[in-house]
Amino acid sequence: MPYQSTRNVLQKATASQAILQGLSPEGGLFVPESLPALTKERLEKLVEMDYIRRAQDLLGDFLEDFTAEEVAACVNGAYGGEKFANAKIAPLSKLGENTYLLELWHGPTCAFKDMALQMLPRTMATSAKKSGKGEEIIILVATSGDTGKAALEGFCDVPGIRILVFYPEEGVSPLQKKQMATQEGENVFVAAIEGNFDDAQSGVKKLFTDETVLSQLKEQGRVFSSANSINWGRLMPQIVYYVSAYCDLVKDEEIALGDTVNVRVPTGNFGNILAAYYAKEMGLPIGKLICASNRNNVLADFMESGTYDRNRPFFATTSPSMDILISSNLERLLFHLMDEDDKAVAGLMESLKKDGRYTVSEEILSRLQKDFAGGCCSEEDCAATIKDLFDRYGYLCDTHTAVAVKVCEEYRRKTGDETRTVIASTASPFKFPHAVLSALGGEVKGLDEFAVAEKLEQVSGCEMPRQLRELKEKQVRFTDVFSRENMLDALKKALND
Ligand SMILES: *Cc1c(COP(=O)(O)O)cnc(C)c1O
Repeated sequence: MPYQSTRNVLQKATASQAILQGLSPEGGLFVPESLPALTKERLEKLVEMDYIRRAQDLLGDFLEDFTAEEVAACVNGAYGGEKFANAKIAPLSKLGENTYLLELWHGPTCAFKDMALQMLPRTMATSAKKSGKGEEIIILVATSGDTGKAALEGFCDVPGIRILVFYPEEGVSPLQKKQMATQEGENVFVAAIEGNFDDAQSGVKKLFTDETVLSQLKEQGRVFSSANSINWGRLMPQIVYYVSAYCDLVKDEEIALGDTVNVRVPTGNFGNILAAYYAKEMGLPIGKLICASNRNNVLADFMESGTYDRNRPFFATTSPSMDILISSNLERLLFHLMDEDDKAVAGLMESLKKDGRYTVSEEILSRLQKDFAGGCCSEEDCAATIKDLFDRYGYLCDTHTAVAVKVCEEYRRKTGDETRTVIASTASPFKFPHAVLSALGGEVKGLDEFAVAEKLEQVSGCEMPRQLRELKEKQVRFTDVFSRENMLDALKKALND
């Protein structure tokens, strides 16, 4: 199953090339040319498997130039052993009659990024071996908080790979900052950037395509790659948990095989929800895909109007991993909705770059609305939802998950659509303790995040994940702050040039 670029379908790649390169040379994103089918028979078999077997079965189709042994080694390394604190890897929690939270945060960094970023370094290292070039891979990451730590953790001390993470200085929580700044490993580097996530992301994109930088790297026997969700290797492992959640619902007799479920996802860069779209396209019985935004509601507006317009105020919210005005993975969806018209996609992306906006045709908008609906949630509603879930069900959720829960409630109220719904729960509540404790009515004034997290334990009766508890005593290793213009200096420092 070869891959092609969204901006030039003649740019083809194997799975290992797509994973190694991250981005296609002309700036497009790699997508599979065709998708494997999830027939009823295949789903029946998957229902009987555990998470690891399901992942091996599904990912084997996408990693067409990997041997079965290589696929198994990557999957076992990512999800096996004690890596995940829950034996089911991505368990479901039932809330009320027809709602299930898919908990994607039992991995090493307590956010859903681990689901993909425990896998990516393994597929990337395997891909590098296949290429036989022996180049050192330099991973550049722009993060709104959770990706950075999950990538650092995933790539830490992986031979032949070096990783440099840029985060917006004002855009991440103190706890996220500490998670990154204390990262261990010989091959890691962390830099704060003056600006917001979009600044960090466009700076990384610029480095990626800077001819001078690229030729220097080449001379040094180095090559860039990406761990952001623009890399197909990031997106692919996320398809598994939607299929797996469906199989668990069948296995637990919550639904019959073939029943439709809706999926709701708190969305930032559009990677997580796009993985659900791919699962639906493969034949998983998914009804509506609901894309939940916080106050930065550029996606909700797009799904309503067909105009994507990033020219709007940027808000720093209590769900920072969704504070994004340019959702890169939307490009992949547009490519599929527009019948793989690469020129048209390139045109839209050009106007996004130039004018910060684009509009799709009525036809494309109606195709989009057939599968997707959008919604957004205010800061007040997010906090009220955290409290409401705790009061009603004794369930403690984080701010991102709360945004999706609220949007789900609104959608049901507006449409009357009571279809069973899986909501992606994307972070441990202890990763955002200030916002969560405040939502419950706890006093946070004057307390640092660790004191707040401990107080949250007392108030909620829930236990904080071990890795967050241990963070308190960890030594800070990285303190550098760079301006947007000087991101190249960070790269030089990371490479010891
Ligand atoms: C990254 C992240 C999101 C957004 O996911 P995308 O794939 O970028 O849409 C939502 N919630 C949390 C906690 C995250 O870390």
